[in-house]
Amino acid sequence: MKEKDVVLYLGEEIRSSASSGTPPVYQTSNFVFESVQAMREALIREDELPFYTRGTNPTVQLLQAKMAALEGTESALILGSGSAAIAAGLLANLKYGDHILAVANPYSWTKKLIQRLERWGIAHTFADGSDTASFLSCVQKNTKVIYLESPNSWTYEMQDLETIAAFAKSRNILTMIDNSFASPINQHPANYGIDLIAHSATKYLNGHSDVVAGVLCASKVMIKSIFQTEYMMLGGVVSPNDASLILRSLRTLPMRMKAVAETTLEVIAYLEQHPKVAKLHHPHAKGYPQQELTAKYLSQPSGLFTIDLVERDSRKVEAFCNALKRFKAGPSWGSYKSLYFPAIALMTSQNYQSANILPERIRFGIGFDEAEDLITDLDSAFKIL
Ligand SMILES: *Cc1c(COP(=O)(O)O)cnc(C)c1O
Repeated sequence: MKEKDVVLYLGEEIRSSASSGTPPVYQTSNFVFESVQAMREALIREDELPFYTRGTNPTVQLLQAKMAALEGTESALILGSGSAAIAAGLLANLKYGDHILAVANPYSWTKKLIQRLERWGIAHTFADGSDTASFLSCVQKNTKVIYLESPNSWTYEMQDLETIAAFAKSRNILTMIDNSFASPINQHPANYGIDLIAHSATKYLNGHSDVVAGVLCASKVMIKSIFQTEYMMLGGVVSPNDASLILRSLRTLPMRMKAVAETTLEVIAYLEQHPKVAKLHHPHAKGYPQQELTAKYLSQPSGLFTIDLVERDSRKVEAFCNALKRFKAGPSWGSYKSLYFPAIALMTSQNYQSANILPERIRFGIGFDEAEDLITDLDSAFKIL
């Protein structure tokens, strides 16, 4: 099915006699039944039939169907945040004594989660995923999950999904990926054999900075097993209203991703040639070391990239950031607003000397602005340096 048909039509056959032109929001915690037998049937098939909104709600269910279709998987679950989705996906597939192999620097709260799992007797290895052979050499006898993030947060290293998935299948290891950067428009991990796909829907899927939510996409069997365990037990579900906002946002996802791709290419072309930029990190940057993987896996550029300024004095970098007017300082990305997150914002009094913080590093997320306006904004800020 075409992406546009999924976001506009899939699952939207009119259900009620009122013939609402758009899907109604089922803003209810529970569903009521005319007979005990009808109630019993809904309870038995709680993952498919509306019974209680922590389980199945028709508004959320429509979003599940669209997400599964966009990712090319059989099923999907929507959760209250990207982190809730990642946590539910990992916890449902790991137990005491298992090992998880993960990319070296996944999203901050994913990394903290994996480290915290040690308390429950689940070991981990973080390893560079860009070198497939050395990454896979970290697999142990008890490795149950290989966790990927491709392209990676902040520095955009990619992993060879197809090779890693084939290896994992031969060893009966589950592969999981955070696909937030690419969105289901720009990358389809299921096509390469990845088992479980997570998204922060807070980013491109919702795209308007007004909802926090997450998604898991996988086979029917996998989704059912997550539903029956961590999804229902942790209860980190999305509200029907938020699901409805995401459904509305999805209508424009293919168009938004296209516009963001075009703007991003113009902005990175400007930054790449700028003498005050030491390095630009993005899978579609000129000097990107894994261009073969970019060509294979990403159908167009996403709007998130990082620059390292030549200037490394944190006060001067801060003055540059403060001079940006159209780009706003803020967490998150994938918004209609163009945002930046400077590494120096992580320099709190507690970790001022942290060796991990590069003062010259700034992450940018492109919104719906015109490239010309963003370049003008950057240009005037560069005059500070
Ligand atoms: C933001 C983000 C998350 C977490 O998502 P939330 O919706 O904020 O919980 C996970 N992975 C990546 C790559 C992110 O950028």
